[in-house]
Amino acid sequence: MPPPPQRPNVLIVGSIALDTVETPREKRENLIGGSATYASFAAAIFSSVGIVGIVGEDFPAQGISLLQARGVDTRGLVIRPGRTFYWHGRYEENMDNRTSLRTELNVFADFDPRLPPGYITAPYVFLANIEPRLQLKVLDQVRAPSFVMADTMDLWIRTAADELDGVIQRVDLLTINESEVRLLTRETTLARAARRLLSRGLNHLLVKKGESGSLLFSRERLLFVPAFPLEEVRDPTGAGDAFAGAFIGSLAARGSRELEDLYTAALSGSSVASFAVESFGADSLAHLTKAIADSRKSQLLSMVHPSFVKQ
Ligand code: AMP
Repeated sequence: MPPPPQRPNVLIVGSIALDTVETPREKRENLIGGSATYASFAAAIFSSVGIVGIVGEDFPAQGISLLQARGVDTRGLVIRPGRTFYWHGRYEENMDNRTSLRTELNVFADFDPRLPPGYITAPYVFLANIEPRLQLKVLDQVRAPSFVMADTMDLWIRTAADELDGVIQRVDLLTINESEVRLLTRETTLARAARRLLSRGLNHLLVKKGESGSLLFSRERLLFVPAFPLEEVRDPTGAGDAFAGAFIGSLAARGSRELEDLYTAALSGSSVASFAVESFGADSLAHLTKAIADSRKSQLLSMVHPSFVKQ
């Protein structure tokens, strides 16, 4: 295993968790999860990654070694006495709607993210789902990144609106799901919600619509990103994080912030997210190769741009 690079191309901060996941057919306890974990596995398929987060002493060493085996730089991962962030979710029959049955912040309650020296100049940054106050602390430490994207969730829209607003004003792209963007903007149509956010300084908005794909809004264009139609979904947990991780990893590998590269990165995101939901936890992501992810990306491209279409 080569030593991790001093300066990762992608910096990811977010939750590192132990998850209990229930679907209508299965239940699994204490899976290695969390927004930063899923995103890091996905981003590492394309680029070098440094993760920032906190776990308790109960976090399995195997979780950390799996990340390291994928080349993820874990200097920013701290282990503290106490219990790891814990989340318990249950999916409904449609595998899309879910209820958070329990969320325990545990060691996250007094987490103060400190970036290791090499991370500060990472050019691509993903603020995965985590309390906006912590996302802001990371933004305060990075130096002139090329591209920053952020994710959030309904809990923070309801409880930390001001801090979240501060995050939105300082990032290039916000990724958010359909119901959350309505909650955030109080607009009923996605077009108006996007216009409102883009007029407040955001450059791009990626609205996730589950198995119906996602919409990439920017000031000049609106692009549709298909989701790969799977016959069976085993565990949708982490799909959004996997999408975002693959997106930022692939964009970083291209060293770009142009819309055409953002769209290509979104197709990689969609491809990798589809692998994430085919198995429980982060298992399939931890072993996915770039060649396999790229081949599904090509299938997605042929769905939006079939070669027989003439202008
Ligand atoms: P996703 O399915 O993409 O929304 O991500 C699911 C992951 O988010 C799970 O692995 C959870 O551990 C993590 N998660 C759930 N609730 C929170 C929260 N309030 N803050 C940070 N991460 C969370």
